[in-house]
Amino acid sequence: MVQEAVAMNDDTLPDFSIPHGRHHPKHQVRLNGQLYALLIEEKCVEAGVKIRFYETPVSASFEKGNWTVDTIGKGTSTRIVCNQLIDCTGNAYVTSIAGFNVLREAVIQPGTLQFQLGGYDFKSLDLKTIEARYQEEIAKGNLVKTDFRNNIVGLLRSGGDNIQHVLGADSTTSETHTVANLKGRSSLLQTLRFLRTLPGCEKIKLVDMQNETAVRETYRIDGHYQITKTDYVTGKVFDDAVSYSYYPIDVHDENGVVPDHLKEGVVPTVPLRALVPRNSRNFLVAGRCVSSDRLANSALRVQASCMGMGQAAGAAAVLANMQNKSPLEVSLDELRKLIEEHGGIVPGRGQKG
Ligand SMILES: Cc1cc2nc3c(=O)[nH]c(=O)nc-3n(C[C@H](O)[C@H](O)[C@H](O)COP(=O)(O)OP(=O)(O)OC[C@H]3O[C@@H](n4cnc5c(N)ncnc54)[C@H](O)[C@@H]3O)c2cc1C
Repeated sequence: MVQEAVAMNDDTLPDFSIPHGRHHPKHQVRLNGQLYALLIEEKCVEAGVKIRFYETPVSASFEKGNWTVDTIGKGTSTRIVCNQLIDCTGNAYVTSIAGFNVLREAVIQPGTLQFQLGGYDFKSLDLKTIEARYQEEIAKGNLVKTDFRNNIVGLLRSGGDNIQHVLGADSTTSETHTVANLKGRSSLLQTLRFLRTLPGCEKIKLVDMQNETAVRETYRIDGHYQITKTDYVTGKVFDDAVSYSYYPIDVHDENGVVPDHLKEGVVPTVPLRALVPRNSRNFLVAGRCVSSDRLANSALRVQASCMGMGQAAGAAAVLANMQNKSPLEVSLDELRKLIEEHGGIVPGRGQKG
């Protein structure tokens, strides 16, 4: 679907055979997110997935080998009974309401409201004056340095994108996510008002903005195995590895981010045990709530890794359902074969990562 989205938008994939050195964004796939969402939705409908937008689970209980999940939504209240449950909420929310242990740090990474600015010519700007004006406003307390990661020149060079930081942004509940959204949006408005007072930026415009302040870190599950930073940076191939991950260790804080790159050739893996909460049955997770320490999680959380985990969790749930087992009881050989049959890249199966 990534390839289809790239082709349909006349984009190009990066050349992954050229090492990126310390510039990992060179290997990032820039695609049209809206188009990608349309394609995914189409595939889900074709596959018979019953999509239920605008709903949220309120309880999950396991009885006699099945999960009962109650959800509420706009004008609806639904009971779903299923044999296997996969938590892809990013926040391990279903894991929490099902009663399994979850992990969280006292301080979490900041979130970001992504936006795009236009209406100015970066090359013609007097960057010295702009930097001085920026520092003046910071000193007066009119601007907060996290608004632009303390880098106004960077903000103007990139025209926005992934530059603002919202401290404490948390998407776990409607309340916390509302606060994160309000903070991100008011910061953007303040930014815009300030930028329009700068020489050469008087006509600056908001060209695009994401709907939500995006959140980097909340809860992780307490899984049968917790992936450590050492596992990650040494590219440990677990006996039960079911997918790959790839990204620098990438912890954002109030000062910005300094990625810690993997050594060339290192491609970390994700064990099935890290997708299964301790004491659970017929339950899996996929995505950034994977069982991992904070540093490993800062890298595992990226989308390609989440996609790999999602495919592995889906395949494990299918096999477990067909064989009347819990995911950790399915044969790893069968699981890896199933993932591979659907185009997944499975560690230890002979392909290149
Ligand atoms: C600003 C920012 C920039 C990033 N840049 C990149 C990048 O360039 N490349 C990259 O690969 N990764 C990037 N990431 C990381 C990556 O996008 C995320 O970590 C990843 O998408 C997480 O995937 P996920 O499936 O675990 O969760 P999500 O993609 O967050 O999906 C969780 C879904 O569950 C839904 N949900 C959650 N709780 C509930 C509930 N209670 N009821 C109903 N629905 C619920 C949410 O609405 C959401 O649709 C970035 C992250 C941020 C914050």
